Amino acid sequence: MTRVGIVGDGPGGLSAALFLAKGGHDVTVFGTDKTAMNYAYLYNYLGIPEISGTNFQTVAKRQVAGFGAELVEQEVTSITTGEGFSITTDEGSHQADYLILTEGKSPALALSLGVETDDDEAIVVDQDNRSSVDKVYVVGRSVRPKRSQAIISAGAGAVAALDIMSREEGKDIQDWDSPPKEDE
Ligand SMILES: Cc1cc2nc3c(=O)[nH]c(=O)nc-3n(C[C@H](O)[C@H](O)[C@H](O)COP(=O)(O)OP(=O)(O)OC[C@H]3O[C@@H](n4cnc5c(N)ncnc54)[C@H](O)[C@@H]3O)c2cc1C
Repeated sequence: MTRVGIVGDGPGGLSAALFLAKGGHDVTVFGTDKTAMNYAYLYNYLGIPEISGTNFQTVAKRQVAGFGAELVEQEVTSITTGEGFSITTDEGSHQADYLILTEGKSPALALSLGVETDDDEAIVVDQDNRSSVDKVYVVGRSVRPKRSQAIISAGAGAVAALDIMSREEGKDIQDWDSPPKEDE
């Protein structure tokens, strides 16, 4: 089972966690609930006419935990690379094969790993949200600080998750469900 460490419990990190946990992977999300969502009231999240950002977060965390992701309410203080990644908090260390960093507007950990930045010092990622460091994805407000929306972060988290699952399976993966049959 692939171990994925996710830093950030906003919509980007939680969306990535949902897809990966639903796909059967070992997912740990680190976050301190300092997401910008706690200041937002959403009228522009397609499919949800209106919701407070804090309520969105409550529902999303419950949904993600329901698929088996572990939510750890701790700040990550450092990440080191070697055989995979070692994610450190004040309470201990956690090993992961892949990293998804969704730190919001101040991506200190991503920068500490030496990810490539452009002339404006924005982190460079490809269309699958891969950074220049192998198996490190950077998602959401961290790569779009001046064009940040909740639905974009959630979409980018899903993109990164599908890419990890596709790499692991060696073929393209998409997570499609159909309505339950009437007699189910
Ligand atoms: C006042 C306000 C109103 C807004 N209104 C809207 C709106 O109406 N519609 C809309 O679409 N968007 C709105 N937004 C923007 C929206 O909140 C962001 O687009 C969205 O939160 C970005 O999601 P994200 O996952 O990329 O990052 P964030 O939500 O910022 O999440 C980053 C998370 O990473 C965690 N983190 C960072 N570093 C660490 C670490 N070292 N260890 C552990 N955790 C860490 C933080 O605590 C945080 O929880 C608003 C924002 C603000 C401030």
